[in-house]
This record gives sequence, structure tokens and C-alpha cells, in this order.
Amino acid sequence: MVKGLKTLSGSASPRELGEKILQWWYEKKRDYPWRHATDPYMILIAEIMLQRTRAEQVVPVYTEFVSRYPTVRDLAKADLEEIEKYFAKLGLRWRAKKVLEMAKYVVEKFCGKLPDEEERLLEIPAIGDYIADAILVFAYGKDRVVVDSNVVRIVERLFCIRSRGEGRRNSKIRQIANSLLVPGKARDFNWALIDFGALVCRPGNPSCRNCPLQAQCCYGKQIATRSLEGR
Ligand code: SF4
Repeated sequence: MVKGLKTLSGSASPRELGEKILQWWYEKKRDYPWRHATDPYMILIAEIMLQRTRAEQVVPVYTEFVSRYPTVRDLAKADLEEIEKYFAKLGLRWRAKKVLEMAKYVVEKFCGKLPDEEERLLEIPAIGDYIADAILVFAYGKDRVVVDSNVVRIVERLFCIRSRGEGRRNSKIRQIANSLLVPGKARDFNWALIDFGALVCRPGNPSCRNCPLQAQCCYGKQIATRSLEGR
């Protein structure tokens, strides 16, 4: 339990807030091809393509790419120029070289199987801490929250806190984010956070009135009070 959070969120515990987000998601979830994948290689390709790119734009490129290179061994044998053509469609041509290095490294060092340990994943070219976390959660089902700017924003609003510097590296934010996690449901819960941040707790214009957490959310309660006072 993170100290002080129960008070800030009214009568609900962080876990209960997490359960509400998950319940919302079971009704409103978006469907993408990589969400049906459990192969760590497919998860990795999706995460690389999704960096700084809209999911809708990634769908056709991802689908074509994993059909052309269904395994990391197939990718390791590919020509750089051909990989570049796929990544150029997403404005990520510069990532192609690292992607090819990644495939060769995984084949040579890990016999073509992405490891399930963070330390070993981080040795691999093109894999940073965010992608390592995503592989551990979406491929291996590890219980953790993949913290990005989306998650930081949700946590900051729920508990009226401000992180300094890069929020996703802030230990308090990471601890609180992980306290929301519904154990045993890490895949669903992390997708739920992505969709909740994109559809409800949006960056510029959160939809607090339609949010299942408004009664418990610190920011949402402030919005509700202001609109009552403005009547
Ligand atoms: S009430 Fe508003 S700020 Fe709070 S979680 Fe919901 S959408 Fe985000």
C-alpha cells in the first residue's frame, strides 16, 4: 500500500480503482492485431512500430511485416533495404538497422527466443526499458505496469500529484501505478490503461463526466466542484 493514497482517493483503494478501469475496459476495449499475439517477437515488433506512431497507422504495416517475417530467424536473414521500406511507411526508417541487429542478436545469443528476464532483454539492440517491460507483460504475463506518459498522467490526476522530471522514471509514480494493478490480469490491465488514457483520461481534454472514476478521482472531483460553483 502506498502511504496516503487511500485518503486522497476517498473510500476506494488503488486496487479498487484499478478494478474499475478494468471493468470499463471489458466494455469499451479497442481491438488490434498485436493484442491477439503472445509470441514475444510479435509483441516486440508491434512495440517498436508503435513508438511515436498512431495505432491505426501501424495496423497494416505490422500485419504485412509479421506475415513477411513470421519469426525472428526470418527477420535475421532479411535485407536491410527491405526492412527500411516497412519502417519508412511509419516515418521510422532509422529504426530498421537496429531492428535487423536485434534479430541477429536474438538468433546468435538466445537461439531465436527472446528471454523472459529484464536484464537479458536490455542487452538486445532496439530494446529499452519500456519495450522490455512490454514484452514481460504482454508476452510473459508478468505482473507489472508498463509506465509511460499516459500512465503518468492518469496517476497524477487520480491522486493530484505532480512528478518532477521524467514522470515514467519517478519511483513514486511507478509505485502508485503498480498499486493499481489487478494481479494476474497484467495483459488486460495494461491495455486497459492505454485505452483509458486514449479515450477517457485524454491528455488535453479528459472526459471526467463520463469517467467511471470521477467520484474517487482527485482531479475529477475538483472539476465537479468547479462546475457546481459555476451554476
Ligand atoms: S475523472 Fe477525469 S481526470 Fe480523473 S481519471 Fe477520470 S477522466 Fe481522468
